[in-house]
Amino acid sequence: MDKDLKNKMLAEIGSIITGYGGKSYLAKYVFSFIHQHNINDINLFTTLPKEFRTKLTEDGFFISNLKIVEKLQDPDGTAKYLFETADCQQIESVLLDESGRKTICVSTQVGCRLGCRFCATGYLKFARNLTAGEIVDQVIVISADSGCKINNIVYMGMGEPLDNYENTIKAVRILADPAGKNIGIRRQTISTVGLPDGIKKLADEDIYPRLAVSIHTPDDELRKKIVPAAKKYPLPVLLAAMKHYNQKTDRRITIEYCMMEDVNDSLELARKLIQLLRGLHASVNLIEYNPHPGADFKPADRDRIKMFKDILMQAGIETIIRFRRGTSIKAACGQLGADRLK
Ligand code: SF4
Repeated sequence: MDKDLKNKMLAEIGSIITGYGGKSYLAKYVFSFIHQHNINDINLFTTLPKEFRTKLTEDGFFISNLKIVEKLQDPDGTAKYLFETADCQQIESVLLDESGRKTICVSTQVGCRLGCRFCATGYLKFARNLTAGEIVDQVIVISADSGCKINNIVYMGMGEPLDNYENTIKAVRILADPAGKNIGIRRQTISTVGLPDGIKKLADEDIYPRLAVSIHTPDDELRKKIVPAAKKYPLPVLLAAMKHYNQKTDRRITIEYCMMEDVNDSLELARKLIQLLRGLHASVNLIEYNPHPGADFKPADRDRIKMFKDILMQAGIETIIRFRRGTSIKAACGQLGADRLK
């Protein structure tokens, strides 16, 4: 049995406590010690009787905690954290400040299996999935370190969240719990490169976090070159899963399109994208590519991105542009870890 209390939902902590003959209401105290007060020592749970704390510790229960290895601060308010896990794996998270709205971009895996050509994490070897506790802890540690109230979570750091499905969904539930961080389900976004089975599974959940799907191009042949997962899941298969998600959940999907010069920024592709998205309830985020030394791609010209946006908007597709942030601190996901590995 997993003994990390940070990896447990409130109800699971309740079962542990009642299993020891304790009152179930104590679970809320334990959960808030961990998630609201960042306490990682069972002996400091003063609301629990001392004998009970001793028994939990003797039986191997513990609270994992990530260690900050490095923190880089950009003048634009973006902060990047490099963490070390208990087994000495390194992962990254980013704190974004957009007009006072604080968003944390969390990692879900150590490395990534999917190897997208433009992504710094794609060049790192996959080591393992993160536990729900390790995903949640990125938020606990960053909010404690920065003193910020966190408004939003995006599962968009290192790793593919739908390739670590159960732990990611569990993290969403833990972070949404009012006894803990209380970050509502609708303020959490799962960002996937497009795994159709995971998208369909998500549609069957009883909770609906926001869903963002990285299309990056409406051209299947080009997509196969830059997103190797597209060889297994071509666009028609992915689109069918997204339409199923629309129908089942009645929720809009965000299409992520990372704009790279002379790769996927032609206006012809903008028109092709309109055709592709026909019949899908979706909006589009055009993201200015954040370059890194490992990959031979450049950000698209800003004027080109604006023209691309205009074409989509004229077709009635709600579109926003996200210009790069944190450029002085290697904020492309996986970049800091990749540099340290070198
Ligand atoms: Fe993995 Fe996402 Fe990077 Fe692709 S873009 S390699 S899915 S982390």
